[in-house]
Amino acid sequence: MTARPMYSIVAPVYNEEGNVPRLVSEVARVMESTNEPWELILVNDGSRDKSLDEMRAEAARNPRIKIVNFARNFGHQVAVTAGIDFATGRAVVLIDADLQDPPEVILEMIERWKAGYEVVYAVRSERKGESWFKRATAKLFYRVIYRITDVHIPLDTGDFRLMDERVAHVLRTMREHNRFIRGMTSWVGFRQTGVQYVREARTIGETKYPLRKMMRFAWDAVTGFSFFPLQVMIYVSLALGLLAVLAIPIIALLRISLGPDFFGGQATTIVVLLLIGSFQLFFLFVLGQYVARIYDETRGRPLYVVASTENVEPDKDSGRDQP
Ligand code: UDP
Ligand code: MG
Repeated sequence: MTARPMYSIVAPVYNEEGNVPRLVSEVARVMESTNEPWELILVNDGSRDKSLDEMRAEAARNPRIKIVNFARNFGHQVAVTAGIDFATGRAVVLIDADLQDPPEVILEMIERWKAGYEVVYAVRSERKGESWFKRATAKLFYRVIYRITDVHIPLDTGDFRLMDERVAHVLRTMREHNRFIRGMTSWVGFRQTGVQYVREARTIGETKYPLRKMMRFAWDAVTGFSFFPLQVMIYVSLALGLLAVLAIPIIALLRISLGPDFFGGQATTIVVLLLIGSFQLFFLFVLGQYVARIYDETRGRPLYVVASTENVEPDKDSGRDQP
C-alpha cells in the first residue's frame, strides 16, 4: 500500500460496542493533523458484542485501520502485546479503546519523541468518573509497586504511552506469559519521560477490570518485577527465631520463681515450636531463592539492551543484538 507508517496506534478492544466508531474518528482526526502516515491497529480480544462488526466497517472504509482478531479473550495485556507485534510504525502508541485516554495527548507525546525520548508515558494528574474505591486502590497499588519492584515504574501511569520502534523491538523479544507492559517498558530503559493528562470518565460500557481482575493484575506486577514476597520469609524466620531465643531466659526465670508447673508445663513446647517454625521458614526462603532464579532464567528476557556503541564494528557472528 502506502509508505511505512510513522505512527502505529494500538488499541485493545473487548466489548467496546459504541466506542469503536468514536475511537476511530477521534484518532483519525488527531493523527491526520500530523500530516504523516499512521495506522490504527485494533486488537479484538474476543468481544462478544458488535465490536468486531464495527471494526470491520471502519477497516472497509479506511485502509489505515487494521484489525487483529483474537480467537478468544486473552486479556488486556496480551491484546496490547499483539498490537505491538503487528505494529510497523517508527513510533508505537498504546491507547485504551474506551476514550478514557484522550487522543490529543498523542500530539504532545510525539513532540517529546521528536525531542529525543524513546518512551513517553502519560501520567494521570486527575481521574474522572471513577469510584473512590478504584482511585484509592490504584493510588495505593502504584505506590506499593514503586517501592518493592526493582525497575522504577512511574507513579500513576497506565499503558497509555508512546514508544520508539527500538523499544517495541525489545518488547517483542520479551515473551513472558504473565505480562505487565508498563513495567516491561520501564525495564527496557532508554530515555523516558512523562506528560500529564486528565483521565476521562468512561462514557459507554463499563470497566472490564472488576476487583478480581485488578487483584490478578497487581499480583502479576509484583511477581513479574520483584522477589519481595519471597524475601519476606527471611524476616519472619528471624523474628520467630528471636522470639524463641528471648523466651528461653524468661521461661527459666519463671520456672525458678514459680516452680516447674506454671503455664501448664507448655512453655518449652512453645519455644520448640517457635524454633522449628523459624528453621522451616529459613529453608523455605532458601528454596524460594532457587525458585526465583529458575523463574528469572525461564522468562528468557534479554540480558541487556544496548542503546548505542562507539567504534564497535557490527559483528554478525557474535550473539550480540545489533543496536
Ligand atoms: N480490554 C481488553 N481485554 C480485556 C479487558 C479489557 O482488550 O480482557 C481492553 C478494553 O476494551 C479497553 C482497555 O483494555 O480498551 C482497558 O480496559 P478498561 O477500560 O475496562 O479498564 P479501566 O480503564 O477500567 O482500567
Ligand atoms: Mg477504561
